[in-house]
Amino acid sequence: GEPIINESKCIGCVKCVKVCPAQAIEMFFTPEEQKILDEIMKQGAPAVEEVDAEAAALAKKLAAYRGVWVFVEQTEGEAAKVSWELLGEGAKLARALDVPLSAIVIGEKVEHLCKEAFAYGASKAYLIDAPVFKYYRTEAYLRAVNNLIEKYKPEIILMGATGLGRDLAGAVATVVGTGLTADCTGLAIDDKRNLMQTRPAFGGNIMATIMCDKFRPQMSTVRPHVMAMPEHDPQGSGEIIRESCPVKEEEILVKVLDIISDKKTDQVDVAGAEFIVSGGRGMMGKENFAMLQELANELGGVVGASRSAVDAGWMPQERQVGQTGKTVRPKIYIACGISGAIQHLVGMQDSDVIIAINRDKEAPIFEVATYGIVGDLFQIIPAITRKLRELKQ
Ligand code: FAD
Repeated sequence: GEPIINESKCIGCVKCVKVCPAQAIEMFFTPEEQKILDEIMKQGAPAVEEVDAEAAALAKKLAAYRGVWVFVEQTEGEAAKVSWELLGEGAKLARALDVPLSAIVIGEKVEHLCKEAFAYGASKAYLIDAPVFKYYRTEAYLRAVNNLIEKYKPEIILMGATGLGRDLAGAVATVVGTGLTADCTGLAIDDKRNLMQTRPAFGGNIMATIMCDKFRPQMSTVRPHVMAMPEHDPQGSGEIIRESCPVKEEEILVKVLDIISDKKTDQVDVAGAEFIVSGGRGMMGKENFAMLQELANELGGVVGASRSAVDAGWMPQERQVGQTGKTVRPKIYIACGISGAIQHLVGMQDSDVIIAINRDKEAPIFEVATYGIVGDLFQIIPAITRKLRELKQ
């Protein structure tokens, strides 16, 4: 409807115009009002030299930070794959900025991870190796990362958007006093050396590019499988910079007493699977997912689902693909009875090959599909399974 403007209160500051996310507000001034505003602007605007001095001070502050860092997340000496994916992406940023790509390795007996990081493209690794860092605890790791930042001043830090990465990145950004963009799906460098951090916003309806142009380091988290794995070159080498961090066990309030693995009833790893057969609302019922399981078995893959199928109770939440589910990047993704809402697409559109089966030829899933089959899934899926079995004989 028509917006209601309280004219006695509106001072024409135009703030509402600037903050309206839909850019739906415009403000017009009469020529007389415009004249008054111009006068005020002239009086209030800082002198040109002042602005230049401010810009120069900012440029100097930012220029003190150089280099791209990737935090290597590890549990009991084993790295999370997302860290290597980030090294692949970090290498592109480092090339664009003409700076080194470094890995941050923190833990106990984790030096081998520095070598792994070199194999995935890092040329330096900052290593903090001590018993106090055996298990992840926010306080200890926060202090270790902060010490490194203070000493070496990187311009970019990337972390995986895992439970650990989200926790650590948020804590570091808060203490350092810089910006953090979570769950980025795209990273690039602009012409002023700023990091352009792209991520879905407003429920995935728009892609927002977020900048942190007045503070350093620029920090981003990226979910697993969003970025491609770089090549592994066992010959890759680099420099290990050993650092100590004066964190004492008695200063850390959190103690790890025992590690209990969370063995869930549903052990299927959708995010890591190479072949995924996903079903949506078009599957019409829980029992029909057996048909998808049969096809998945032939491919050596797993069954995934859209949110509608999960909400209907046909599949457990762990199987959901999309913005509020898993991000996947399999060799083949077969979408059965899935319309292709943006929130689903952001979770699977980087799959190597996408095969969509849908009876509606206008369904948006076909826009991202490598191969599209328009027709009734209840006929098509068993036919594909049959054919695969024939081929195997
Ligand atoms: P529908 O959109 O109902 O599509 C069903 C499709 O099946 C139709 O295209 C129809 O033509 C086809 N079909 C029906 N019968 C047959 C048949 N016999 N043969 C062949 N085709 C048939 N969704 C996700 O998937 N993952 C998420 O993580 C996610 N997160 C969200 C987060 C937010 C904040 C919001 C607002 C939404 C989110 N959604 C997510 C929901 C998303 O917007 C869609 O509602 C959902 O993906 C639709 O699921 P669907 O494609 O299975 O169902």
